[in-house]
Parts: sequence; structure tokens; C-alpha cells
Amino acid sequence: MSDNCIFCKIARGEIPCKKVYEDDELFAFHDINPVAPVHFMLIPKQHIASLKETDASHAALLGKMLLLAPKLAQEQGLDNGFRTVINTGKGGGQEVFHLHIHIIGGGNIPPMVRRD
Ligand code: AMP
Ligand code: ZN
Repeated sequence: MSDNCIFCKIARGEIPCKKVYEDDELFAFHDINPVAPVHFMLIPKQHIASLKETDASHAALLGKMLLLAPKLAQEQGLDNGFRTVINTGKGGGQEVFHLHIHIIGGGNIPPMVRRD
């Protein structure tokens, strides 16, 4: 837990959100500024700043997140697939330094990497 972290506050219910899922370890909520019709984030309740701060002790937690993502995507109506994004560090475009998986879909999802 981190006192100044906005996602910790959301997971603790101190900042309102549109909740998608919660269990003892994980929390999911809709992105406040969605880039597609469905855009939500899956986070661990434990404060981990980014994927860079994970190690073997987080293997089960990370596995649980990846296994949950398709289930939540399905529940949100993403029958045709979805995109998962994890931004890591400033160089990866991360803005909120609490590990999160973006789960995005339902619209026209462009190619992730453009070569033109
Ligand atoms: P990232 O750039 O990967 O760190 O993504 C941070 C995401 O958090 C952005 O897509 C923001 O729109 C989203 N975000 C920031 N504040 C909130 C909030 N209070 N509730 C929901 N989503 C938020
Ligand atoms: Zn946090």
C-alpha cells in the first residue's frame, strides 16, 4: 500500500471508480479516459510500481492477473478479442506508477506497431 498512489486509493475505495472486479488480491476498474468502447485496468491491490519492480516472488500474482484478464474481457462483452497493454517506466509511457494491465477492445483496434 502507498499513501500517495491514486490506484491504491481506488483499490481501497477512497477514490470513486467504475468497478469491474475485486477479490482479495486484485481489483479492476474502467479507465477514466478510455481509448476504446471497453477500456479497463486490472491491478494488484498490493502496491507494485511497475513490472520492473517484480521478481520471482510475484510469479503467482502475475499469473493470476494474466489468467483473469480474458475472463473479465469476456464478461465485458469482448467476444471478438481484446488488447492487453502494460506500460513500464517513463520510457514505456507509464503515467501511473502502480502496476496495471490495460484491457482494451470493442472498437477498431489499430495495429500496435506501425512500420510505415
Ligand atoms: P499508464 O499510462 O499506462 O500509466 O495508464 C494510466 C491510465 O490511468 C490512463 O489510461 C488514465 O486514463 C488512467 N487513469 C488515471 N486516473 C484515473 C482514475 N482516477 N480512474 C480511472 N482511470 C484513471
Ligand atoms: Zn499503488
